[in-house]
Amino acid sequence: MRLSEVTWTDVRDADVDVAFLPVGSTEQHGPHAPLGTDALNAVAVAEAGADAYEGAGDGQGADRGEVAVAPPIPVGVAEEHRAFDGTMWVSPETFRAYVREAAESLVSHGVDRVVFVNGHGGNVEALAEVARQFSRDDAHAGYGVAFTWFDAVGDHASDMGHAGPLETALLRATNPELVREERVEEASAGAADRWGEWVAGVNLAHDSDEFTDNGVVGDPREGDAERGAELLDRASASLAELTAAVVDRDAV
Ligand SMILES: [Zn+2]
Repeated sequence: MRLSEVTWTDVRDADVDVAFLPVGSTEQHGPHAPLGTDALNAVAVAEAGADAYEGAGDGQGADRGEVAVAPPIPVGVAEEHRAFDGTMWVSPETFRAYVREAAESLVSHGVDRVVFVNGHGGNVEALAEVARQFSRDDAHAGYGVAFTWFDAVGDHASDMGHAGPLETALLRATNPELVREERVEEASAGAADRWGEWVAGVNLAHDSDEFTDNGVVGDPREGDAERGAELLDRASASLAELTAAVVDRDAV
């Protein structure tokens, strides 16, 4: 169920196993992809993952309850894209507090398992800390983990850039009207080959405009809708597998 579309009585009467809290960002994604890419993709994976968990192709779905898919958190830790117009961000401190408190509010209704479904690399570190704090907090007694979709797509993961093949592919499969196809050539021509400027294992660049002029890393031409559908399948299967383990895990 999508929390923003059901009623409180629906939630009261439902058998909810776990909540998914999609977490995105509002930040540049090159000239061809929307600022909201990370939240759009996180929501797409969360909804497909919820279907996969509830329907469970492994034959165990009949015993399972529902997933409550929360509305996405749209602004994250993204100051690295501050040079590009329209990008928004909050500090890691604000982000952690907001996401954690949002998750804790679900525990008060008995939904004590939460998977943070993330679509933005800049959120990873902060979300890992949120999941730890959420799980260790005896006052709320919840358990949560953070899941980042592009880390859960098998051998595709090495192609993750920024607004590159993977993110563009998933958008083409799930929100194709939002990809400016007529700008994909331009996006590709101005793209960097890799994220950052690395010396001795250290990234010298703190901001993305130091290594990409148009905000793109990787070639968005290499991410068609067919690849996007495969990414969605892989990410949602991974999320369903993870969710089953989170639900079955004894409370910490
Ligand atoms: Zn992104």
